[in-house]
Amino acid sequence: MKILVTGGAGFIGSHIVRWLGKAGHDVIAADSLRTGKRTNLPPDVPLYEVDIRDHDGLAELFAAERPQAVLHQAALANVRESMEDPITYAEVNVIGTLNLLELAKDYNCAKFVFASTGGAVYGEGKSPILALDESEEGGPPPPEPPFTEESRPQPKDNYGANKLGCEHYIELYYQNYDLPYVILRYANVYGPRQDVKGEAGVVAIFAGAMLADHATRITGDGRQKRDFIYVDDVARANLMALNSEVTGTYNVGTGLPTDINTVYRLLADLTEYRRSPSYMPRPAGEVLATWLDCSKAGKELGWEADVDLREGLRRTVEWARTTSVNA
Ligand code: NAD
Repeated sequence: MKILVTGGAGFIGSHIVRWLGKAGHDVIAADSLRTGKRTNLPPDVPLYEVDIRDHDGLAELFAAERPQAVLHQAALANVRESMEDPITYAEVNVIGTLNLLELAKDYNCAKFVFASTGGAVYGEGKSPILALDESEEGGPPPPEPPFTEESRPQPKDNYGANKLGCEHYIELYYQNYDLPYVILRYANVYGPRQDVKGEAGVVAIFAGAMLADHATRITGDGRQKRDFIYVDDVARANLMALNSEVTGTYNVGTGLPTDINTVYRLLADLTEYRRSPSYMPRPAGEVLATWLDCSKAGKELGWEADVDLREGLRRTVEWARTTSVNA
């Protein structure tokens, strides 16, 4: 199949491009190179340097390449930035996605796979306002982690609202125009080529600082829990979503909560870092605990996480070592 990977020069997108290539697909990448890099891509993969807000630019790409499926990874994905610049975030994340949906519909694409986010879509589960409403009406208690795909989404930031909005549009394009889709709600993804400014950059930030023997800081008390999933597992989930007959929404994580202090300790061991972190105040609104129940992906896509945290961190540190040596 000829497959378009948007955000293909980015962290997750560039791993997906490689997995697709290995599986024998014909791959093209589209990326504005805002955070992505040409060097993240294998040299033989064509890269269209296009902004997904630019409908005409994307239309030229579709006319020239006629992709049969779209794996949509391009996005602005920084929670804090999304609160500072909600308009740009909506333009890229929502209008950009609509531009791609329109073209995927017009070109009868066989599949639209969307990178959504478990962390930001589910929020923390508990919302004081909803909890109050429900206790008055005797409704169900608010969801708590691990979140399933049935847990009520409660984004706490503009980025999460963007992604949830896109999920609704994608469902509508399926209902109204028969555009088959798979939405993958990623947990906190880490691994080689991660940009330190990304959504789950903590592994990249710690590993880089520790290898350079710089000071390290943890926000909050480090007991915030996250579900850390290795990037190869996420790329493999995309491949399985592409090959599968199913349409639907799937969590993509390990199903295991890990606190930031544990990640810190494992990385300190791997890098032989001896300094202690300083602890900073927790940013307002930061989610304390989120992890995902991924059994639906196991049952329907045949996917489950394969790389455990220690091994994933080892591979990431190995990559970071070679990168800093070559830099
Ligand atoms: P990334 O920043 O490395 O990748 C995003 C890519 O999109 C970059 O290459 C960037 O240049 C490109 N891009 C940004 N704006 C663009 C625009 N207007 N037009 C075209 N290209 C544009 O981040 P990532 O971590 O690889 O994220 C990939 C996807 O996964 C995103 O959709 C993100 O929301 C989602 N996601 C990531 C995580 C995570 O933990 N990293 C978790 C949940 C969801």
